Amino acid sequence: MDVLILLVFVLMPLGLISAAIATSVKKRPFLRWWVFGTFLWPIALVASLAVKPDKREYWQCPSCRLWINHEATKCRHCTADVPVG
Ligand SMILES: [Zn+2]
Repeated sequence: MDVLILLVFVLMPLGLISAAIATSVKKRPFLRWWVFGTFLWPIALVASLAVKPDKREYWQCPSCRLWINHEATKCRHCTADVPVG
């Protein structure tokens, strides 16, 4: 099988699984986990399940959906006002 086809249609979707777990459940950076999962997916899948959720408290910005500190009143990515509490 062509290496590029294997990468795009097999490894990258498998990497998405570990990235999805790490991002949604554990609040970890998506891109880093996708790359990790693409190239080392069995290890990344186990690691995404085993990693502890990020202890720092983050909200997801209601405007751009990126993670921001829970004490922020403005999003540092898109500068949207963030509701307090
Ligand atoms: Zn934002």
